[in-house]
Amino acid sequence: MVGGSTGAAEAGLTAALPEGAPSPRLGAVAGRIVSCRRCPRLVAYLATAHRRFPGFWCRPVPGFGDPNARLVIVGLAPGLRGANRTGRMFTGDASGAWLFRVLAETGFSPRARSEAAGDGLALADCYITAAARCAPPANKPNREELDACRPFLTEELGLLPRRRLLLALGRIGHDAVLKTMNLPLARYAFAHGARHALPDGRVLLDCYHCSRQNTNTGRLTWSMFLEVFRGARALVS
Ligand code: SF4
Repeated sequence: MVGGSTGAAEAGLTAALPEGAPSPRLGAVAGRIVSCRRCPRLVAYLATAHRRFPGFWCRPVPGFGDPNARLVIVGLAPGLRGANRTGRMFTGDASGAWLFRVLAETGFSPRARSEAAGDGLALADCYITAAARCAPPANKPNREELDACRPFLTEELGLLPRRRLLLALGRIGHDAVLKTMNLPLARYAFAHGARHALPDGRVLLDCYHCSRQNTNTGRLTWSMFLEVFRGARALVS
């Protein structure tokens, strides 16, 4: 059962993908992500969410964006009423509103809003993915779930050959990037605005997550957020 969805939805996996595949190989990874059931707690949570919100996507969410991207954004996990609702990363909630606005202001998105999967939005030089692909209770995937999901991130990154800059939205995204490269976390401390030179010549750039909790409390202001993305634009220009 797909997150408590119907057999018809199960049967049409390809048709059920939330976006046109950005490339055949990324599309194959996306298909496996959407059908993944590795984490019992999250599978049960999505099944419950689907019963409560029958119109929501309520499946794992694959990455989204330009397969030739130099900028790769790594978030935490789908928000219950955002990506878990629409089936597209950072689409449909307050976090996404901030992210797509800043992407538009820095030239990585033609539009400042991402409304729904299938709306034709095509990111430019930017790909968005996450450490975990299922919406977790209280926005907190546990260690086992992050470990179980990391191979998908590793695969996606390997299929983005032009990636130069990995922008982590929050510490969990930062750690996930380092773990895909088997790098010691202690050597690369997360700090908002920090830039870490990685052994393969790429750069890991840290930013507080644009969660409502961070933006409402002022931990992350718009100017702080914009500054990080302006720095990202400069690094890939
Ligand atoms: S979090 Fe990742 S590994 Fe776990 S069930 Fe969802 S897609 Fe699969």
